[in-house]
Amino acid sequence: MSNIPHIILAKGKEHSLLRFHPWVFSGAVKKKADGLQDGDVVEVYSAQNEFLGTGHYQHGGSIVVRVFSFEPVEVNLAFWEYKIGQAYKFRTTLGLTNSSKTNVYRLVFAEGDGLPGLVIDVYNGTAVLQAHTIGMYRARHEIAQAIMNVLGDNVKAVYDKSAESLSQKAPADAVNGYLLGDNGAETIVDENGNQFYVDWVNGQKTGFFVDQRENRELVARYSAGKKVLNTFCYTGGFSVYALNAGAELVHSVDSSKRAIELTNRNAELSGHADKHEAFAVDTFDFLKRPLEEYDVVILDPPAFAKHLSARHNAVMGYKRLNAEALKKMKSGSILFTFSCSQVVDKYLFENTLMAAAIEAGRSIKIMHQLSQPADHPISIFCPEGEYLKGLVLYVE
Ligand code: SAH
Repeated sequence: MSNIPHIILAKGKEHSLLRFHPWVFSGAVKKKADGLQDGDVVEVYSAQNEFLGTGHYQHGGSIVVRVFSFEPVEVNLAFWEYKIGQAYKFRTTLGLTNSSKTNVYRLVFAEGDGLPGLVIDVYNGTAVLQAHTIGMYRARHEIAQAIMNVLGDNVKAVYDKSAESLSQKAPADAVNGYLLGDNGAETIVDENGNQFYVDWVNGQKTGFFVDQRENRELVARYSAGKKVLNTFCYTGGFSVYALNAGAELVHSVDSSKRAIELTNRNAELSGHADKHEAFAVDTFDFLKRPLEEYDVVILDPPAFAKHLSARHNAVMGYKRLNAEALKKMKSGSILFTFSCSQVVDKYLFENTLMAAAIEAGRSIKIMHQLSQPADHPISIFCPEGEYLKGLVLYVE
């Protein structure tokens, strides 16, 4: 038997783990080893003493163990190499690891890659790691080494951006910085042949919203010769695609001045800054202006609900935002609208858009139903990994 401490579940509480769902809720635990510390590796057993999984322990939240292996394992460098290797192999299948057009992708997406609590994005040779649990944070040096060993020449440095992502009781010594190598503070990445500055040191999340890559391509498809309004633009992802696709005019809106600076730099980089203007204002205020000139409008707000308890207010927020836009958009224009709130599922989002259209008195048609790209995989056993949804709507 290994010397890994044990957690024993109450009778009948093993079923979700047997179906490879990785979360152990506090109410399911009958007995745990003495002296467990946040982030300790533990083995989970059923009441019948059957091994169920190995994971990280974290006291205090509703989830007490996040399982990263459903087989007994020794958690060492070789183990992290195996897990990172599996994730990398999948991105290679997706054509992301050796592409002449794209060198920015998500290497690890938490539960979707069997690594709850860990997110890693790759920006043109710099891997940016975010631990969301103390367990992954404690393993960060080994994980960084595993990234280097698996990716070889395709990665030069690993940056730790965990200080603000640790969900509970961040260790006092959690400071962002390089774990291995040093690639400065920013780089230029290519995404489907579009270029962007990415600043992982000061940027939101790991520096760039990698999850809109495929949806940006769809915006490009409808932007040639068109006037485009991109709200909640952050670094101007949709704006740059529209500009490069030949948009006649692009307006970008974000309440953050820093985001607007980044968007302006990226518009410069595209070589089409003459067709671009950015506004550091609240989207709800901007939508009070007339919108008749725009052929395409994009609404990509931050998550309005981070928890189930906030779902109702979030739905009201999405309804209001979309109704304001729909009321004023011209006939024949296209709305790209998104929600990244995990608790608002695609059916609820679609119903919310129906309510917004009724309020606005507009008839709309669904052109496309959008989701997150495959480098943000959803484990079939853990549907909670599905968070991004979008609708492309034709406004009649
Ligand atoms: N569409 C972006 C990601 C959006 S992230 C991309 O493709 O990369 C959400 C952005 O909304 C953040 O930049 C945040 O600063 C901005 N934001 C939040 N509330 C806002 C508001 N009320 N009005 C305008 N921008 C807002």
